[in-house]
Amino acid sequence: MAPSTEAWQWQLDAVCRGKSSDVFFSPSGEGRTARRQREDEAKVLCEQCPVISQCRQFALATNEPFGVWGGMTARERSLRRTALKRAS
Ligand code: SF4
Repeated sequence: MAPSTEAWQWQLDAVCRGKSSDVFFSPSGEGRTARRQREDEAKVLCEQCPVISQCRQFALATNEPFGVWGGMTARERSLRRTALKRAS
């Protein structure tokens, strides 16, 4: 299926739109404690976002391997995908 602008339309309402992505993505060499703090900060933003559901579904559907999307870390998305595979 060809990408459409509709598939990305939800991003126009994103809380993170126009903001730095630093809080959502891990810099190289980031330690465990710093990562957890950064991810918690990102999740606070996501919880206020009106398109959290669309963002989460997009990241799960595209197997997005990096960053916090829809209030979920990459590890949480990976665990969700594994659980869904086991359930099917
Ligand atoms: S849910 Fe989080 S990552 Fe997704 S668009 Fe909203 S603020 Fe950005």
